[in-house]
Amino acid sequence: MYYDVAIVGAGPGGIFSAYELINSQPNLKIAVIEAGNPLNKRKCPIDGKKIKSCIGCKPCSIMNGFGGAGAFSDGKYNITNQFGGTLYEYIGKQEALELMRYVDEINLKYGADGTKLYSTANTEIKKQCLRHGLMLLDASVRHLGTDINYIVLENLYNDLKNKIDFRFLTCARHIKKTEKGYCVLLDGGEEIEAKYCIISVGRSGSKWMEAVCAELDVPTKSNRVDIGVRVELPYEIFSHLTDELYESKIVYRTEKYEDLVRTFCMNPKGAVVTENTNGIVTVNGHSYEDPAKQTGNTNFALLVAKHFSEPFKDSNGYGESIARLSNMLGGGVMVQRFGDLINGKRSTPERINEAFVTPTLNATPGDLSLVIPKRILDGIIEMIYALDKIAPGTANTDTLLYGVEVKFYNMEVSIDENLQTRHEGLYVIGDCSGITHSLSHASASGIHVARHIMSKD
Ligand SMILES: Cc1cc2nc3c(=O)[nH]c(=O)nc-3n(C[C@H](O)[C@H](O)[C@H](O)COP(=O)(O)OP(=O)(O)OC[C@H]3O[C@@H](n4cnc5c(N)ncnc54)[C@H](O)[C@@H]3O)c2cc1C
Repeated sequence: MYYDVAIVGAGPGGIFSAYELINSQPNLKIAVIEAGNPLNKRKCPIDGKKIKSCIGCKPCSIMNGFGGAGAFSDGKYNITNQFGGTLYEYIGKQEALELMRYVDEINLKYGADGTKLYSTANTEIKKQCLRHGLMLLDASVRHLGTDINYIVLENLYNDLKNKIDFRFLTCARHIKKTEKGYCVLLDGGEEIEAKYCIISVGRSGSKWMEAVCAELDVPTKSNRVDIGVRVELPYEIFSHLTDELYESKIVYRTEKYEDLVRTFCMNPKGAVVTENTNGIVTVNGHSYEDPAKQTGNTNFALLVAKHFSEPFKDSNGYGESIARLSNMLGGGVMVQRFGDLINGKRSTPERINEAFVTPTLNATPGDLSLVIPKRILDGIIEMIYALDKIAPGTANTDTLLYGVEVKFYNMEVSIDENLQTRHEGLYVIGDCSGITHSLSHASASGIHVARHIMSKD
């Protein structure tokens, strides 16, 4: 099989590179190799009744398949260089923003028309934050919601499926350099040859990406890991922020250690959910546009970034160990009331049942101080008190903390301004490159690479 372009991974990075290539040059022969299922076959078996927690399906329907890790996400497309990745360091700030806006236009065209674009610039909230030692980052946020995000992906797939050769439930095992370009070796021994190869395997493909870099002698460097908790409280406490901004990315520098703690992935009227990365269960959150599916709570993560220096290189291993510890004690995700944490008590099912906040996730009541390192936990507690000044009620006894939330980052792959490795025609994009951590940055990286390929032929 000989293609012009072989794309490994059908997450946002892979989808948007395929979209841009085929819409600009309809005669191109493109293959997309995806370890997971097509969108309509992606079904997580957790129903809250018969199956209450992760049973480790392979492939995992949450992380793998058309749409990638973002398919059932909240669909928040943040148009900014201030967070979500460092794509701008490679392609320039202006170009990065333009590509993110272009991705937004495509989403609108494929079903997101009518969704709201929020902006944090010049708001009264920014002033309030600054008065209390908190920094509100600038961004425009298109919130699709899990339901509209799905519709956009469905429409994109229906448009692409007859123009592109999608191979689902197919794992790429090795990549070899050949005279004509690249050969992708698949499960079962099949080989796909292409002039160009784009790798976009996301976080779930991080271990494979490392192996490919080692085989092809592409330099990498280790990265960071973010550790923290997911906070859940009544919607009303944050409504003055979420009604105006939807997502507010707020950063706080702790007085004790001068560490940075930040809010991440805010979900007004949302639900707390579990996430399974290579068998390790962590916590996450999402929300729906559809009012019928909304809850009375808002959730968001509070994260502390840990960067390690020599000789320690395994930042993800560190995060995994902490998540494993919480899985060992709680059998999965643990929940604790803020008041219990402050008073040095574990939460019990009785205390959780009596709380004014009804949990949206069935987690095990426990003691997060037995799991999260002191320095990180101290920072989170300090930030909760700081947030209480701009959103009174955040530090209430009944505020729920779920743990642990871990954001694993891929090691950074050495790529140039075209997102090309030292091997001509081999590109690494999206989260597996280590330079994006978000839907908009991953999608923009796909467009950037597609345009570079077209500029060559
Ligand atoms: C629950 C959840 C909620 C999120 N919410 C948001 C949000 O609201 N906003 C935001 O900006 N970001 C969010 N994110 C992050 C966002 O989803 C990712 O940053 C984004 O999906 C990265 O895109 P990608 O294409 O790089 O990788 P992915 O989306 O991870 O896609 C990679 C694909 O490659 C496939 N793959 C892996 N290895 C192989 C292999 N060897 N062979 C073939 N295929 C392979 C995988 O199956 C997967 O489908 C969320 C993530 C999760 C898990």
